[in-house]
Amino acid sequence: MAPSHPDPTISRHVAVIGAGAAGLVAARELRREGHSVVVLERGSQIGGVWGYTSQVEPDPLSLDPSRPVVHSSLYRSLRTNIPRECMGFTDFPFAARPHDGSRDPRRHPAHTEVLAYLRDFAKEFDIEEMIRFETEVVKAEPVEAEEDDGGKWRVKSRSSDGVADEIYDAVMVCNGHYTEPRHALIAGIDSWPGKQIHSHNYRVPDQFKNQVVIVIGSSASGVDISRDIAKVAKEVHVSSRSTSPETYEKLPGYDNLWLHPTIEIAREDGSVVFENGKTVYADTIMHCTGYKYYFPFLDTKGEVTVDDNRVGPLYKHVFPPALAPGLSFIGLPWQITPFPMFELQSKWVAAVLSGRVSLPSQDEMMEDTKTFYNKLESSGIPKRYTHLMPDDSQFEYDNWLADQCDYPRIEKWREQMFYIGFKRIYAQSATYRDNWDDDHLIAEAYDDFVKFMS
Ligand code: FAD
Repeated sequence: MAPSHPDPTISRHVAVIGAGAAGLVAARELRREGHSVVVLERGSQIGGVWGYTSQVEPDPLSLDPSRPVVHSSLYRSLRTNIPRECMGFTDFPFAARPHDGSRDPRRHPAHTEVLAYLRDFAKEFDIEEMIRFETEVVKAEPVEAEEDDGGKWRVKSRSSDGVADEIYDAVMVCNGHYTEPRHALIAGIDSWPGKQIHSHNYRVPDQFKNQVVIVIGSSASGVDISRDIAKVAKEVHVSSRSTSPETYEKLPGYDNLWLHPTIEIAREDGSVVFENGKTVYADTIMHCTGYKYYFPFLDTKGEVTVDDNRVGPLYKHVFPPALAPGLSFIGLPWQITPFPMFELQSKWVAAVLSGRVSLPSQDEMMEDTKTFYNKLESSGIPKRYTHLMPDDSQFEYDNWLADQCDYPRIEKWREQMFYIGFKRIYAQSATYRDNWDDDHLIAEAYDDFVKFMS
């Protein structure tokens, strides 16, 4: 456990970039620890990715770097893939509210309910008063040593009032990582005549009526979107890299939805050949192939880079050793239950900034980070999975963070609910949101929630 001091000693002036779930809880934890906080948010509301919009980007693959960016990647039919009881912050339960028609009481509610929950959270903790909306951070960089040697940060932001140039003691990056698409590389795609779109720009299925559509990717969005489209399309063919090369299956519950392995080639005549030898003449290819970490505003003079989707070097996915504690990142890990992790990371950063908790030396942090990267490499794990937290690792990590800050560890029911829920997604992908057998865990969760819901 890291050495800790009994009292917070230093109050810092901190810029938080983004007012999604991560930025909101970061602001709360910083203020609780005695820091002064400004949250800079380029949108006009809180909630980040949960602020659904029917708007999409003009370039359906989002390849053009000068395109107008739409932040949210939600589709209209989206319901949470994590049960609400384990999804919420640890001390502000995401409980089903009494059903007055304005809220969605389901266990896997619609996206609107998550936004409503985040609004409740922001209201409860008076977070909006710290936020400057419609203010985009265009540059964040360490202040030059000649100007100041105290590790301060210069933050330039743009709003309707013009460009502000301000100095902060620290910057917390909470800008999300589901906006900049990754695409599948497909042999022959340049001469294939059909349309392509990334799931970032998918909202509703209407435009695919009577079409033959190939959906690349079989993780959460691929599963949802292929089923959404299958309601109106002539045929939907899902291409998955996690299935065997000979796979060719009709998916249960649909008579127009097939599962294939990866695509071998796309041809000029409109055909697409899969690794299983099957050929499909498709109208559209939908890339449900995930996103890239992207920090266009961040200038760390090379101390932090994004290399094959590894943001690094970062000690425990949060602090770059050379720039700690002035720069930190909240929310990089994935395949996790995000809100509780954002909360614990934020508590840790807030406590480090106040001096209540100490970090190891720069060399020790770097050594720890290198050891972690070497371990990934020797296990054959590509860099792009650096922030993936499979199996037990997310809760080990959460509990490590909690221990740093003398905060209670993650509840056992939350852990078990996450695992069971995660398995359910794949075992019963069409029905997992409405059929479950872990009522005993729901009961435990609500017993626990009582202390926060008086
Ligand atoms: P975001 O919500 O993306 O917020 C980042 C904020 O930063 C935005 O408001 C943005 O406007 C702002 N910003 C960005 N750049 C700048 C800048 N330069 N200057 C100022 N502001 C800036 N999680 C779950 O727990 N359950 C689910 O069921 C679930 N389903 C998901 C489904 C989809 C399709 C996606 C894409 C994600 C899903 N997630 C889910 C994960 C979700 O991303 C996290 O739950 C979480 O909301 C991310 O919060 P964040 O604050 O890190 O990022």
